[in-house]
Amino acid sequence: MADNRYVTKVEFITSGVHPGDFPELGLPEIAIAGRSNVGKSSLINKLVNRRRIARVSNTPGRTQLLNFFTVNDRFSICDLPGYGYARVPAAVQRQWGPMVERYLIEREPLRALLLLVDVRREPGEWESQVATWTSAQGLALIPVVTKIDKLSKSKRRLAIEKVAMQLGFSARQVVGWSAVSGEGLDDLWRAIQRQLPAEEDDSSE
Ligand code: GDP
Repeated sequence: MADNRYVTKVEFITSGVHPGDFPELGLPEIAIAGRSNVGKSSLINKLVNRRRIARVSNTPGRTQLLNFFTVNDRFSICDLPGYGYARVPAAVQRQWGPMVERYLIEREPLRALLLLVDVRREPGEWESQVATWTSAQGLALIPVVTKIDKLSKSKRRLAIEKVAMQLGFSARQVVGWSAVSGEGLDDLWRAIQRQLPAEEDDSSE
């Protein structure tokens, strides 16, 4: 796996469903959401440079849990359950909305949400709903268009513009990402770091 200069330490903390299960870490938190198969696990693994950190979220029976881990002892990531897993019963699927909305409302350390959209799909009602909840809580939304390697440069630009428009952003605010080529890693880290309090001994620019 290519070197990732951003990450020195990653620690899986816990999984949970209810606010009572969520860890008290004393760190700002970034949440990550997307439909199943959007490339969420691949993105997380690449973002934090660990092959299998996001594997738990894809283990059958655990797909509906929120998974928490810390990065560099500086911030935490909450990997939200993928939306729309075919194997998950409809009754469980219906709990997704209330569970995530409650997390967004009650999770005090939460700063921003990465919303993943496949470059070959347009954001639908579900993505708009998540965007609405996020802004209602005064949280930053970072739209990420995944799998950009699947399209030519000109087509991906159009796809990114479309996603931006549908979510009420400018194209420049959308991160284009490929877990295959590693494109977007710098942009993604920059977008995350912008949401974190400044680090006193941070010598990078
Ligand atoms: P999740 O269900 O959202 O966690 O999605 P996964 O990370 O498991 O990815 C779903 C599928 O898309 C897998 O077959 C991945 O290999 C593939 N995939 C994920 N990210 C990318 C990407 O950036 N480019 C391409 N071409 N395929 C990807």
